[in-house]
Amino acid sequence: MKNSSIVCGLQWGDEGKGKIIDVLAKGYDCVLRWNGGNNAGHTVVVNGNTFPLSLIPSGALQRKRLFLAQGVVINPKVLIAEIDLLKRFGYSVHLMIDPRCHIVMPYHQELDSANEQWRGKSAVGSLHLGIGYCYEDRNNRSGIRFEDLIRPKIFEAKVRALFPLKERRIQSVYGASVVKRPVDFLSEYIIYGKKLALYVGDVSSYVCRQMGKQAFLFEQAHGTMLDPVFGTYPYTVAPPTISSSVFCGVGMPAGRVSVVGVVKAYTTRVGNGPFPTELTNSIGAIIRSKGHEIGTVSKRPRRCGWLDLPMLRYAVRLNGCTSLAVTKLDVLTGLASLKICVAYIYKGAKLTEFPSQMSQLADCKPVYKTLASWKKDIRSARGYEDLPLQAKAYLRFLERALGVIVRYISVGPDRKEIVCRKLRK
Ligand code: GDP
Repeated sequence: MKNSSIVCGLQWGDEGKGKIIDVLAKGYDCVLRWNGGNNAGHTVVVNGNTFPLSLIPSGALQRKRLFLAQGVVINPKVLIAEIDLLKRFGYSVHLMIDPRCHIVMPYHQELDSANEQWRGKSAVGSLHLGIGYCYEDRNNRSGIRFEDLIRPKIFEAKVRALFPLKERRIQSVYGASVVKRPVDFLSEYIIYGKKLALYVGDVSSYVCRQMGKQAFLFEQAHGTMLDPVFGTYPYTVAPPTISSSVFCGVGMPAGRVSVVGVVKAYTTRVGNGPFPTELTNSIGAIIRSKGHEIGTVSKRPRRCGWLDLPMLRYAVRLNGCTSLAVTKLDVLTGLASLKICVAYIYKGAKLTEFPSQMSQLADCKPVYKTLASWKKDIRSARGYEDLPLQAKAYLRFLERALGVIVRYISVGPDRKEIVCRKLRK
């Protein structure tokens, strides 16, 4: 009986899931994405080559079987570019795409831009890639599925039937002008469909039949705090991101799967929304610069802050983490001291639980515990014993506060730069 695992980011995304999935994928047969679109960027660095992947599962670089399950929405142009990039570097792409996946259309992107412009100061910070609007169409039963894209006549008929309403919404509701009409994109999309048709397959059926016989690594896009229900709504993404969403995102019965929670050694977030431990001072700027905290897809500077335990405890609970991977520990090297938020003060009262009401989060002030830092460069550490005492104390503090063991410690972007702890049974 082979075990399968879910890899989940416990913060606002960009935790370094791509790196951890690349490392872990070695021990699995299949790597599968179940949510999100090309607004989720994972960066994998192998032997100095950087692969920014936004749709292809990060297991591609371990030459594993890859799957896009129904919960993923696909921009076909982006997917083809990623397949081509991998092929250029000599990776053959063994990919299966579920026919139920929805396709991101040009009018989704135009609606996204028009809506953000209309919201002005209260914009959610969307990347204007149309992902939310694709999910909206899916839920309204007016989407285009992968099975449609690969059948040109059906595809064209559906687009022509759906487009007038989109056009009216862009023009009359938002007062914007439509950039691409069906005549401008139909033939381009039909070519994409022809290129991708060979990958179609029933992912749900495959996973249900093979679960236990093959080891699956399920790759989450985004992060827990971007979940549209349990995250910092409305500054969230459209599809569910917590680990249990894997079951309907794939189309498989709920069962026991171990969950690796990925935690960056500090906190970052892109876009707007409350962030209690944000550092708007020079320490935040140092972390941003040392950690290269610029969005893989957005290219926007990320907001940086200290670790937040109430938020992490909440994320561990929601995902049911069985182990943790701490990334970017190397970025903290050389700081004068380190802080971890252990509780919040809200209207004079101490809160140790993450609030369920987002209006409260905006007024939460962090209570910090200060820990010692370390000076020694840790990028060459390969065993737990190679880490300085202070780094080990930082990890131990986190582990105790969350009640979950830290199994993996990433000390640099490259695949090699990892400590995999051997744990006594
Ligand atoms: P993901 O979406 O969670 O996969 O994260 P991103 O790829 O958006 O961002 C993580 C960034 O940090 C990427 O550029 C990685 O190459 C880099 N990275 C991952 N792990 C480490 C690490 O341990 N140390 C450093 N310095 N960089 C890392």
